[in-house]
Amino acid sequence: MLDCAIIGGGPAGLTAGLYATRGGLKNVTMFEMGMPGGQITQSSEIENYPGFFEHDKTGMDFMDTWQKQCFHFGLKHEMKKVERVEKTGEYFTITLEGGETVEAKTAIVCTGSTPKRAGFKGEDEFFGKGVSTCATCDGFFYKDKPVTVLGGGDTALEEAYYLSNICSDVYIVHRRDTFRAAPSTVDRVKRKENIHLITDSIIEEVLGDAMGVTGVKIKNKAGEITQLDNPGLFVFVGHDVNNAVLKDEKGEFICKMNDWGQVIVDLSMKTSLPGLFAAGDMRIEAPKQVVSAAGDGAVAALQVISYIQEQA
Ligand code: FAD
Ligand code: NAP
Repeated sequence: MLDCAIIGGGPAGLTAGLYATRGGLKNVTMFEMGMPGGQITQSSEIENYPGFFEHDKTGMDFMDTWQKQCFHFGLKHEMKKVERVEKTGEYFTITLEGGETVEAKTAIVCTGSTPKRAGFKGEDEFFGKGVSTCATCDGFFYKDKPVTVLGGGDTALEEAYYLSNICSDVYIVHRRDTFRAAPSTVDRVKRKENIHLITDSIIEEVLGDAMGVTGVKIKNKAGEITQLDNPGLFVFVGHDVNNAVLKDEKGEFICKMNDWGQVIVDLSMKTSLPGLFAAGDMRIEAPKQVVSAAGDGAVAALQVISYIQEQA
């Protein structure tokens, strides 16, 4: 019987593992289907994690010491995909790919969320090299430069507004002429002088070279192509929350979720199911940053320790 099963080995899962093991729990396993590290390992640079200011280090370099530190304090790692987390009586049953099951007193789920891709030419090739899905992470790289934003939802317009305070100009490309975002957000964006709306248009291709993105080709409804020589392209076309592990055999969620599939937690990272915690990008109101995911993981682990003490 595990004291705690941690599902997902990104910044939230690793930090949960560190705090759980250093907090005295003896039997803690982190189930991570790939190499530990999470999404940030796809990044070529991280500039906004306090205390880490090394420009020549990638996201992969950055996360390398996290796992070493966790394993040093006794966290175990199983490179397995989790299919399902269920509470049967007092304890949790973790079902792994292939059908093997593991019992645990508590579970911290931190499987993250995955930004959707829009599907234009060059998107995958230049992802992390000028194509970004995070304005807070990468906006500063384009200080006083023009950038392109794709999407017409709340995220695209709110992030475009954020970028407009850093970048010289922000060009929002949206495939329709009305926006999905809240009317008040649309109004605010329309009032900002350095935000320009390009509607009824799609991104045909992102252009670039060995140094990264150099521009975008935009196609309007009439089929006309224009080119913007903006070095940054921010894609906000929605997220898939990796919440499948929280569905039971009937496909019902085992804890309360919001309409967008994010896990509802309180400030202690407690879900609606006692003993089950969620942390990082998959929870409601997540800022989707390494620093906040790590903070969530620490909070969840400290709560797990209290929960186990209370149950004893
Ligand atoms: P994740 O990092 O998504 O980790 C979730 C983990 O769960 C993954 O490793 C996944 O393999 C695993 N998993 C999923 N499902 C299962 C399953 N069923 N079984 C087992 N394992 C599973 N943030 C910043 O603060 N600064 C930046 O500069 C920055 N730049 C970024 C650049 C890029 C290219 C990307 C993609 C993200 C960037 N971010 C940045 C965001 C940051 O990476 C995320 O906010 C953070 O990683 C979220 O941590 P997490 O632990 O919640 O989830
Ligand atoms: P979203 O609402 O699904 O919007 C995605 C946008 O991307 C839409 O405008 C969509 O166009 C466009 N799009 C989708 N696929 C595309 C493609 N392949 N190519 C080009 N454009 C594409 O996603 P979101 O903005 O991330 O928001 C998700 C949820 O969170 C929403 O319910 C939103 O209201 C909520 N949210 C709320 C707040 C807030 O309340 N402050 C902030 C952020 C998010 P169409 O419009 O044509 O479909």
